[in-house]
Amino acid sequence: MGNSSQRAFVQIFDGPGQALRTEWWPLPEIGAGDVLVEVQLATICGSDLHTIAGHRQEPTPSILGHEGVGRVVSVGNERRTITPGDRVTWSIADSCGTCPLCTETHLPQKCRSLFKYGHAAITDGSGLNGCYASHIVLRRGTHIVKVPDLLPDNVVAPANCALATMVNAVSRLPDPCRSVVIQGGGLLGLYACALLHERGVEHVFCVEVSEQRLKQIGLFGGIPVDGRPGHYLQSRAAITAVAQYGVDAVIEVAGVAALVPEGIRLLRPGGFYGLVGMVHPHTQLDLTGEQIIRKCLTIYGVHNYAPWHLDRAIQFLEQTVRKYPYPVLVSPPFPLTELDSAIQVAQAKDWHRVSVRTQI
Ligand SMILES: [Zn+2]
Ligand SMILES: [Zn+2]
Repeated sequence: MGNSSQRAFVQIFDGPGQALRTEWWPLPEIGAGDVLVEVQLATICGSDLHTIAGHRQEPTPSILGHEGVGRVVSVGNERRTITPGDRVTWSIADSCGTCPLCTETHLPQKCRSLFKYGHAAITDGSGLNGCYASHIVLRRGTHIVKVPDLLPDNVVAPANCALATMVNAVSRLPDPCRSVVIQGGGLLGLYACALLHERGVEHVFCVEVSEQRLKQIGLFGGIPVDGRPGHYLQSRAAITAVAQYGVDAVIEVAGVAALVPEGIRLLRPGGFYGLVGMVHPHTQLDLTGEQIIRKCLTIYGVHNYAPWHLDRAIQFLEQTVRKYPYPVLVSPPFPLTELDSAIQVAQAKDWHRVSVRTQI
């Protein structure tokens, strides 16, 4: 089906509380620089769940989904490095490459004419703007990365969101960096453990409250710290034992503003604090300017990533796929026709990512 049928199968989201709709569309003519990709596997991100729940407003009707891996079907001219048949993943955003944010500030993810996959109306461009479909059209300003054969689909699919973002986050840490505390042992936190362990950080602590997730931290090179009330004070002694004067960096990936005062306490003078997870409005911080000044802290925000972070993410997976059990993070695939069931399982949060097999 798919390519051979010359039609695309799509799951359409009309808004919170409304059932998904399936449709068959003719495959579009693609423009210069565009690439038509047959999606093979997609994963359901927390941001998809927020949109489905109505916690964030996005244009509808739309095709959701931005995390995926697929095979190139056809290439508009001007794309010399990508050819039909290539197995690829892609940046979650399309940027112009010419505005000051793209060229001078080196924040293409904040491009003045940014387009984000999985968050656009079906009336925008070809309409094939999301991963919960048999096909997606990648636009001319989208970074496309070839994927080595040795990486399974379920290892690659979440890389263009969580892993690339963490590659960006850890690229900002001080050097030397011997001890880091990661606040949160979800997908971002586990990737951070592996990235920092491979970078040679001696002590990578990861604070988490779920018993199931605490067990996974060691598998990814981190030292679990039990963050549950009644356990944390004892568990944090492991941090102060090796970093008597504070850790070099703290990375927040839990999305919980109440953790920030403890993060500030744990930092050494001159330490770095990366804020990654609190991408929602309920994140007022209990923090004084004096604390930041007297401790000479650097606090930085990380939102998404630039093309070179995605290149690095795929290289990192290639180098470490035999070392860390990435497939345990992703559920067995649901067929695209059962996307609603996949979403329900994702909402239960038993898996870091629920996967969807998009060819039917
Ligand atoms: Zn995502
Ligand atoms: Zn731009």
